Amino acid sequence: AERILAEFAAEMDTARDPTAVGVSLGIAIYPRDGASAEQLYTNADTALYRAKREGRGNACFFDAEMDKAARLRRQLENDLRQAILRKQLYLDYQPIYDVGSDSVSGYEALLRWRHPDRGVIEPETFIPIAEESGSIVAIGEWVLEQACQEAVRWREPASVAVNLSPLQFMIPTLYDQIESILRKTGLDPRRLELEITEAALMRERTAVIATLQRLHRLGVRVVMDDFGTGFSSLSNLRAFPFDKIKVDRSFTGALEHDPAARSIVRAIIGLGHSLNMPVVTEGVETELQRRIVIEEGCAQLQGIFFGKPDVGPSQLFADMDRAAG
Ligand code: C2E
Ligand code: CA
Ligand code: CA
Ligand code: CA
Repeated sequence: AERILAEFAAEMDTARDPTAVGVSLGIAIYPRDGASAEQLYTNADTALYRAKREGRGNACFFDAEMDKAARLRRQLENDLRQAILRKQLYLDYQPIYDVGSDSVSGYEALLRWRHPDRGVIEPETFIPIAEESGSIVAIGEWVLEQACQEAVRWREPASVAVNLSPLQFMIPTLYDQIESILRKTGLDPRRLELEITEAALMRERTAVIATLQRLHRLGVRVVMDDFGTGFSSLSNLRAFPFDKIKVDRSFTGALEHDPAARSIVRAIIGLGHSLNMPVVTEGVETELQRRIVIEEGCAQLQGIFFGKPDVGPSQLFADMDRAAG
C-alpha cells in the first residue's frame, strides 16, 4: 500500500496541473474479509471510506469494527432519507450578540435530527452522511425554507443565519432556490445571512463567485465561516464577496491561555477592518473570552456565554402575542 501511494504521489508531482488530486486506498483481503467478489468489494469500499476520512493519501485495511460503523452509517443514511417527510428535522437558534448596539442582532439556525430510536443526533454526525449520500441538497433546501419561514414570524426583525453545505453550491439552481424561498416566505433578503466555509470555494470558483454576487445584489449577506481553519483563507477573502468573517471557535477556546491565539484573532480583526468586513467570534464561553474579543475590536459575538442554541426567539413570535391578546 505504501508503495502504491508513493507511486501516485510521485506521479502527481510531475503533473502539470497541481489541482487537488488525491489517492486513497481501501483494502480487503481474500478470504479473511469476504468469500465473494461482491463482499470483498463492499468491505474494501468500507475501508476506503475510513481512509478518506483520515485524510488524503491514506491506506486502510478492512476490519470488523469498521464493519459495525459502516452498518450504522448505512442505517442512518437510509433513515435520513425519510427524515424530512417524517418531520424529524428541526432548527435550534443561537443568538448573535452585536457589540455596537449592545443587543442580540440575529440568530444562527442549527440543524437537529430527532431520530425515532436514537434520540437527537448532532449535525456533526449526520451532515457528513447527508453529504456523502447527496441528501444534503434536499435537507439544505428544507433548512433554508424553514429558517426563513420562522424568522418572518419573529416579532423583532433580527437576522437569521443559515449554514450551507459546499455541495449546495454544486447545484446550478442555488440562487433561484434562495430567491424563490425569500419570495414565498416574504422574508426581507437583508435579514438573511448565509454561512459558508472555504470548502465551498474549492471548485467551480467562477460559478460560486457569480452566485455570491447575485445573492449580494439581492441584499443577502454572505459570511465566511470557520475562518482560520482552511488553507487559502487570505486569497479567498480577496476573491469572494464576503460581508462578514466568523473566526473559528477553536481560536476562541484557546484565547485565555494561548497568546498566539489572541495574536491570530487580532490579526483577523485587523484584516477584516481593512477589507471592510466585520468580524464575529463564535464559541465565546467565558467572561474573560468576551472581554478579550471585545477589547480586540470584534463586532459580534456568539457562544454559550450569551446563549446556547435553543428554540430561538419563539417567545417573540408575533402571532403568539396576538393569541395571548
Ligand atoms: P458551526 O457552523 O461552526 O456552528 C457552531 C457550532 O458551535 C454549533 O454546533 C454550536 O452549537 C456550537 N457552539 C455554540 N456555542 C458554543 C460555545 O460556546 N462553545 C462551543 N465549544 N461550541 C459552541 P452544532 O449545532 O453541533 O453544529 C455543528 C456544525 O454542524 C456547525 O458548525 C455547522 O458546520 C454544521 N451545521 C449545523 N446546522 C447546519 C445546517 O443546517 N446545514 C449545514 N450544511 N451544516 C450545518
Ligand atoms: Ca456556522
Ligand atoms: Ca463556525
Ligand atoms: Ca463548523
